[in-house]
Formats: sequence, C-alpha cells, structure tokens
Amino acid sequence: NLSDRLERSFKILKGQGRITEINIAESLKEIRRALIEADVNYKVAKSFTDEVKQKAIGQEVIKAVNPSQMIVKIVHDELAALMGGTATPINLKENPAVILVSGLQGSGKTTFSGKLALHLKKKGRGVLLIGGDIYRPAAIDQLKVLGEQIGVEVYSEPDNKTDAVALVQNGIRYAKSKGGTFNTIIIDTAGRLAIDEQMMREIAAIKEAVRPSETLFVVDSMTGQDAVNTAREFNERLDFDGVVLTKLDGDTRGGAAISIHSVVDKPLKFVSMGEKMEALDVFHPERMADRILGMGDIVSLVEKAQEQFDEEEARKLQKKLARDQFTMQDFLNQIQQIKKMGNIKDLASMIPGVGKALKDVDMDNSVFKQTEAIIQSMTPAERENPGLLNGVRKARVAKGSGTDVAAVNRLLKQFDQTRKMMKMVAGGGGAMARMAGAA
Ligand code: GDP
Ligand code: MG
Repeated sequence: NLSDRLERSFKILKGQGRITEINIAESLKEIRRALIEADVNYKVAKSFTDEVKQKAIGQEVIKAVNPSQMIVKIVHDELAALMGGTATPINLKENPAVILVSGLQGSGKTTFSGKLALHLKKKGRGVLLIGGDIYRPAAIDQLKVLGEQIGVEVYSEPDNKTDAVALVQNGIRYAKSKGGTFNTIIIDTAGRLAIDEQMMREIAAIKEAVRPSETLFVVDSMTGQDAVNTAREFNERLDFDGVVLTKLDGDTRGGAAISIHSVVDKPLKFVSMGEKMEALDVFHPERMADRILGMGDIVSLVEKAQEQFDEEEARKLQKKLARDQFTMQDFLNQIQQIKKMGNIKDLASMIPGVGKALKDVDMDNSVFKQTEAIIQSMTPAERENPGLLNGVRKARVAKGSGTDVAAVNRLLKQFDQTRKMMKMVAGGGGAMARMAGAA
C-alpha cells in the first residue's frame, strides 16, 4: 500500500539534513504512482508532485521530525489544497432553501437525501423531502421508509408517472402552504444506470423550474475514473454547486475526490460512508488528504512535534546524553514533555505500523504516574546523582511516593538502561551528523 511504499522510499531520506532534488526523487515517484493508482488523473498527479518538489527542496529538516515526515506533511497540505483547501458549506440562505440532488442510479442519492435531511434537522431546520423519482414505486417507498426512520415528512405522488417537474413544483407549493414549518426542501430525483438524454433533460428541467439554492451531484467513489466522466457530463448540463462522494466506507482510497475536483472545479461538500442515516460527514479536504495518504495521523504527529518540541531543549538534552550527564530530573522533564504532547497511546498510534500493534495494549499516561511520583520524592541531589540512593534513602522515597523499595529499584534499573541506550543513540547520531557535515 501507499504507506509502506512511501516509507520505503523515505528511507533514502533518513539521515539527510536537507531535502534535495536527488534525495526526494524516489519519494516523489512513489507518490505519483500511488496517486495514479488511487484514480487520480496522470496529469494531475504529475503537476501535483512537481508542486511538492518545489515546496520541499531546500527545506531545513526540523530536528524533532525526520525528512520523510516533513515530505508527508507537504504532500498532505498540497493534497488538501488540491481538493479545495477548506470545507465549503451548502447555501441555506434562501427561505425555503431548496436542495436538488442529482446523480446516476445507484450512486446513493436517496440514501444521501435522507442523511442530509437528518443532518439539517439536527441543526434545527424544518425539512421536507420530495420524492422526485416517479418511475419506480420502490424508490418512493424507500424514501418514505427513510423519512419515517428519521422523522422527516416525505412529499410524494403515487399516481404521478409522467411529470417529475410538476411533482416537484407541487411539493414546493405544499411546503410553502405549511406556513413556516418547512424552511428546507430536499428533492430526491430519478437516475439512470448511465448518462441518458431523457434523464439529463428531466433533471435540467427541474433545475430550470425550481431554481434551487443548491444543486448537488452525488457520485459513487467506488466507480473510479468513471466517476470523473459522469461528473463532467452532469456539470456540463447542470452546472451543479457541489459534489457528494458516497460509499467511502468501502475500500476505495478516495482518489476520485481529487480527480473530480480538478476536472469540474466544484467543491466537494459531503462524504457518505455507510448505509446508516448518521453516516454522513461534511467534506474536509484535510481529512480526505489523510485518507488518501493512508498514513495514520502522521501529519498531526508532525504538527504536534513542531508545536511542542523546543529545539534548544533538544540540543541541550542531546549534549547531556552524549556526555552521560542525563539525570533523573531530565527523565522527569521528558515524561512531562511527552505528556504535554497528548496521550501516549494516541501519539504512538500515529506512527504508521505502530497503531495496529497497540490497539489491544492497555497503555495510557498513567503508566508514567508511578515513575513521576518516585522521581518527585527524590531530593534535587538524588535526582542529579541517583547513586546517592542507599537503603535508607530508597525507603524514604518509596514511602513518599506511595510505592515500595522494589518499585524504586525497578525505576533505577530502568533509568540506568535507558541512559546507556540513549548514550549510544545520541553518540551515534552525533557522529553521523559530523560525517554528513563533512561530506
Ligand atoms: P440512488 O439510486 O442514487 O437513489 O441510490 P440509493 O440511495 O438507493 O443507494 C444505492 C445503494 O447503495 C443502496 O443499497 C444503498 O443502501 C447503498 N448506499 C448508499 N450510500 C452508501 C454508502 O455511503 N455506503 C454504503 N456502503 N452503501 C451506500
Ligand atoms: Mg433513489
């Protein structure tokens, strides 16, 4: 998958202090390949990676994160920008606000209409659903069942088999006749299995007749490149205002979101991810970028690290480690630093590959509690030099921290091991950095 391949290509970048044209080339190739596999149009993927390269080259690598993470962040931000940058809300200013729902048969229009009705009802709006699919009696029944489930009235005309435009107009008249009960009307329409002139004419006629405040185009994200062609044709006829991407609960990566946005230049507004009425989300370019990258939440990890990690502190610490001057107090500071960054399990699970492994592990910030208590029960001198801790002192620390001498001994042993290990890492890192500097 994309995540693994990126990681592999990023290995090349490890240990590099600066991102250069050469060390980023392989990563960009992987990114491009992966985008194309995720149904992103070739040209879009190409110009996208060019953009990323421009942004990345020459960037200093922040100490707290490695170059690969920085590229992931750049890729993520660019992806989000490509999908519109920010979420675009639907227009509900008119009274009543009329929302026309279009798309192919099976794309998820009726399901989405119900979901949107519930979503808006929860926001306190008075919603009427209009069953505009006059060709299949089952379609009206489907909408009625959904309406009942979510407590939203459905306007339909069981006898009408000829004129969808008239039906929709009747529905709107009905809503208006109810004096303020309905300030929002959602029109579900008939689709066909493929683009079809009669269907297009009908939906265009409905739009012309009712002049909706918002016309949405619903598309099944599983249909890949076809979704792009369908979007283009609907847009040419309807000039819709926004796109709804459905069935994102499937194993699709969501690359269609990028392609559609770049081809029709209309904002994506909602994503539908399941058959339950609650399974609707406002479209967030940022979240979709996460999904396309499929890299856990590495982006927020990078952001957190950037926010919280004091570079100066890090340098000092590294020196101390290398000179074997790491103390209990430093240990305590580190724990507090980690805690400031959030829950340790959440943090660890942001690292690709680690999240799954930790799923069933019982771990949270309370694992630090005992350690903190013990260190806090030590005097400053003891924290600087744990060697001072003889039997009497250990007993005092144990009592002060509400633990026992065995726990104190465990911590001391652990601290010793950690210090040894960190000394090796820090020493090695220093040597590597010197070598890189000399090269
Ligand atoms: P329409 O023909 O465009 O009105 O499409 P429907 O709303 O009837 O949906 C077609 C099928 O897709 C139905 O079986 C829905 O339950 C299903 N469906 C719709 N949206 C989603 C979704 O987001 N996820 C999943 N898994 N199924 C969906
Ligand atoms: Mg339908």
